[in-house]
Amino acid sequence: MRRLLACCCLVLLLGSAATAQAQQGLTKVAENVYSYVNVKPGTPQNSFAANAGIVIGTRGVLVVDSLVSAKEARRFIADIRRITHKPVRFLVNTHSHLDHALGNSEFRRLGATIICQELDARSMAANGPSQLAGAASYGLSAEDMKGTVLALPDLTFPDRLRIDLGGVSVELVYPGPSHTAGSIFVHIPERKVVFTGDILFTDFHPFLVEGDLANWPKALDAVAALGAQSIIPGHGPLSTVKDIADMKEYLVIFDAKARELAAQGGDPAVLAAELKKVLPPRSQGDGLIAANLALRYLPKK
Ligand SMILES: [Zn+2]
Repeated sequence: MRRLLACCCLVLLLGSAATAQAQQGLTKVAENVYSYVNVKPGTPQNSFAANAGIVIGTRGVLVVDSLVSAKEARRFIADIRRITHKPVRFLVNTHSHLDHALGNSEFRRLGATIICQELDARSMAANGPSQLAGAASYGLSAEDMKGTVLALPDLTFPDRLRIDLGGVSVELVYPGPSHTAGSIFVHIPERKVVFTGDILFTDFHPFLVEGDLANWPKALDAVAALGAQSIIPGHGPLSTVKDIADMKEYLVIFDAKARELAAQGGDPAVLAAELKKVLPPRSQGDGLIAANLALRYLPKK
């Protein structure tokens, strides 16, 4: 129920200011590495502005995240085919949330091996069916979700996995719990690129309800320590080390102020407004402030 409630709030917030904008398509960030950065504002129909990407080796293509539905995955695949006709060998889920993983089945149809850290693979198996069955509660219609079926990972790992794509290697790294228990980042050392998944939100308020706030800053430090020149967050534009520092600061400020406000008590909407005043500014996802506060800090009704 907590999850459902949180995602409803996500829909309310991300979807509220929706206006149609052109999709950006795949953007080259380094040799054979492309980001698929979604446009703002996020809506259920554009996977809540979740980002994705691809790495192309001589053996084939590795895809990072599959978006929210079969329809969204097909949009992504059509854009991939504008860049390369090499086989899609691997689909990596940075974590188990629906906006990063419900498009998986379209990549399985292409023959891709689906990979996820083991803890989030378990979450996907446990929560995927209810996410799919409850798609309407996230603002996704039957038409939006047409053809979407759950496709669980084929391959899981505990800490690190290195994939040789031919001419370029991709490292999947688990820095301990952060946004979810098993969130990973995807590092391409030879190209100085990292896809952070939802370990990093830039200019979006993050979803914190399942987060490990003690270890999350360490995960952000691990991303910063890579020295990557291209940092693709889970939501938001291409990012910098300053964005990573801002995210760490955000988590500390949120946690301290939310605890203080929860101890004080009162109307949740008023408390959320108080909290917003002290948070680093973000242009997207305002409604998640109230959702994170209610679901993580305030007493359950
Ligand atoms: Zn997420």
